[in-house]
Amino acid sequence: MKSPKGAPHQPATDLVTAGRQYSEHGIVSPGVYHASTILYPNTDALRAQNQPYTYGRKGTPTSRALEETIAQLEGGHACRLTPSGLAAVSAVMMAFLNSGDHVLVTDSAYRPTRNLCNGLLQRMGIETTFYDPLIGAGISDLMQPNTRLVMTECPGSQTFEMQDIPAIVKAAHAHDALVAIDNTWSGGHYFKAFEHGCDISFQAATKYLVGHSDCMMGCITVAEEHWERFKDAYEQMGLCAGPDDMYLTLRGIRTLDVRLERHMKSALDIAEWLDGRDEVAEVLHPGLPGAAGHDIWKRDFKGASGLFGFVLKTRNQQAVDAFLNTLTLYGMGYSWGGFESLVIPCDVTSYRTATTWDREGHLLRLHIGLEDVRDLKEDLENGFKAMAALV
Ligand SMILES: *Cc1c(COP(=O)(O)O)cnc(C)c1O
Repeated sequence: MKSPKGAPHQPATDLVTAGRQYSEHGIVSPGVYHASTILYPNTDALRAQNQPYTYGRKGTPTSRALEETIAQLEGGHACRLTPSGLAAVSAVMMAFLNSGDHVLVTDSAYRPTRNLCNGLLQRMGIETTFYDPLIGAGISDLMQPNTRLVMTECPGSQTFEMQDIPAIVKAAHAHDALVAIDNTWSGGHYFKAFEHGCDISFQAATKYLVGHSDCMMGCITVAEEHWERFKDAYEQMGLCAGPDDMYLTLRGIRTLDVRLERHMKSALDIAEWLDGRDEVAEVLHPGLPGAAGHDIWKRDFKGASGLFGFVLKTRNQQAVDAFLNTLTLYGMGYSWGGFESLVIPCDVTSYRTATTWDREGHLLRLHIGLEDVRDLKEDLENGFKAMAALV
């Protein structure tokens, strides 16, 4: 990445300086423009439609500052925003698929992504095949003449399979299909999707970019080759995001590097600690040496975030409930990526179709927040004690 003066900067520096050209009056943060109507000075300007801002939905200095910052973070050509992460998923599907097309979606995909495939897309005559996340170059065998898009998610946000993205990209491109990645887990900071050949990278910015669990946001970054097609569909769908939410997202991004570093450090510490516990059958954290997917993570990723899973030895519901209900620092709730720790029980057996989840014990997912890791371990220790009384 180049600064305006041409000197190369590190990604952490870009997170601080990107979008700054939209700031005014020496104020560090770009202004938060609340806009629908944007006035034209005269009839010539109205006819020409070439002023930088023409209508609230089509962009303001607030949206441009955030979009350019995210495009720089992801390393893609340009970015657009959606009111949620799920809206980013549907925008990608709508932009790149036509009726009669076929899309390949990883079996580890975010569950509402599956619902979109089995609902709206199917209704529109778009066929989905779910595939084994570990398929790698074998994806070639699933390609049909009408396969236009391969959706990846790396790692899966409940079971943490690491996908071999470069191998999938190679196979997809050989069949003229595009590759999109749900890059939410890495925040775009720890996985550079475009350097690995992806055509589209989208995120639930709701998670690490916002980082404070206080607003919803989605973002889609696209390679230059495919930008016009995406932008056109995006505009036809009338998508945009709210100014205060865009402000919160840009504000979150400024501290992404330090937050992720802490999430990574604490989560790895706890993952290792869990790995050594008798109550735990398996830790699902690709950043943990020896864990599934670690080699791919080491090859392709620059870091790990704070979300991972672990499988208990027991499936005893009462014991699992006792564990969960004893925790005080880990809130139970959906979403993740904020400063706070979370825990959620997962059951992936009910909806997967291309793979079977065969672990015996109960699967739990942790989001490790920014609390002191000693307190976080002690809380888990108390949970295990409550569990021990029942198994
Ligand atoms: C949360 C999430 C989404 C959806 O984002 P929302 O902002 O909640 O709509 C998409 N993908 C992944 C991996 C997620 O975790």
